Amino acid sequence: MSNRLKKLQRHQRKFISKQKENNMVTRKAFTYECEDCGKRFRMWLQKGLEEPGENHKPVPFVIQCKCGGMATHVDWSNDIELNHDLPILDHMNYFAFKVNQDCGMAVLR
Ligand SMILES: [Zn+2]
Repeated sequence: MSNRLKKLQRHQRKFISKQKENNMVTRKAFTYECEDCGKRFRMWLQKGLEEPGENHKPVPFVIQCKCGGMATHVDWSNDIELNHDLPILDHMNYFAFKVNQDCGMAVLR
């Protein structure tokens, strides 16, 4: 493969990543439970996270709850997977897809 083609592909991948970062839609949600306050809440995954392929970006198994405690992904059998895009709205907790991060960033509201 020529260097020029490689450069072009790299450029394209970056472009696609940027598009994903700005695409505020989701198809998946996981449930998290806080070990300290006991609260259970749903975390939506911005599209592009936890998808197979060479640019796989996971989401963390443990995140910080609003109370400061540690919340872990629970109830795996009830993970949500939709077959259509759902917009991520202002009140929804979600993991943000960030081009420069190795995994999703938790945003709690
Ligand atoms: Zn908590």
